[in-house]
Amino acid sequence: MAFESLANRLQNAFDKLRGRGKIDETIVNEAMREVRLALLEADVNFKVVKDFVARVKERAVGQEVMKSLTPGQMVIKIVNEELVELMGGNVAQLTMSHRPPTVIMMAGLQGAGKTTTTGKLAKYLTKQNRKPLMVAGDIYRPAAIKQLQVLGEQLNIPVFALGDQVSPVEIARQAIEHAKANNLDVVLIDTAGRLHIDEALMEELKQVREVAKPDEILLVVDAMTGQDAVNVAESFNSQLELTGVVLTKLDGDTRGGAALSVKAVTGKPIKFAAMGEKMDALEAFHPDRMASRILG
Ligand code: GDP
Repeated sequence: MAFESLANRLQNAFDKLRGRGKIDETIVNEAMREVRLALLEADVNFKVVKDFVARVKERAVGQEVMKSLTPGQMVIKIVNEELVELMGGNVAQLTMSHRPPTVIMMAGLQGAGKTTTTGKLAKYLTKQNRKPLMVAGDIYRPAAIKQLQVLGEQLNIPVFALGDQVSPVEIARQAIEHAKANNLDVVLIDTAGRLHIDEALMEELKQVREVAKPDEILLVVDAMTGQDAVNVAESFNSQLELTGVVLTKLDGDTRGGAALSVKAVTGKPIKFAAMGEKMDALEAFHPDRMASRILG
């Protein structure tokens, strides 16, 4: 299960606080040494861990313990609040254009779950009474167009495709025209991914962005890849100015590093969490729920 070892490690750290009467510096330092190790082991970015631990210590030492709480519970409460902050605080909503269609560009490396997430997000939007159009803009991965069409049929959501001989820029342009003409109010553009970030990929994504003028550029990253996911997010963000991140495969045994570092490192919020291969396995990302899951 995701976050299992992190949750266990934190539990151990907090067990040591049990029965202590007062929060003093020694106790806090002792507990936070364990928390620091637990976070590093969960593959959380080094600097993120350092800042996190410093913040908790600063708040915890000398803190008046609330009457209803033991000192241990008080430290846990602070850790919980800081975890929520670290992951962005509040739920980050999608930006919807006042002049439809809203355009959402989906970016990410191959295998991250981009095409699957495009389908999930389209389904999510239909539940909010939106009328999405999915656009097959990944013309390089042989099966991607077909995959999106199959999802479209399954979900009963229209897919715009022009095959693999028309440029993604032109596909995006025509798709938006098609959406306008057919009263479809959200355009989800599935874009090409590569196994690694390269200049040609970024260049093409920039051109699509130029034409599509997206309201959202969401990066889909595989939470299982930990620090790598964060590095990918950092470099996409520096090139494309993302508006948010979708973390996939949170149903796997991810250690948690990506979920806990992405916002702090890139400054961009995690907007959605994908927790399975099924089309309804997508949720708005709730930092508070994720923190509760981590703290057990
Ligand atoms: P793309 O290359 O980024 O478009 O990736 P795909 O959408 O084709 O997904 C790659 C693989 O990851 C597929 O087998 C998906 O079923 C799987 N996948 C995507 N999202 C999730 C998820 O949240 N959980 C799990 N377990 N698998 C996922």
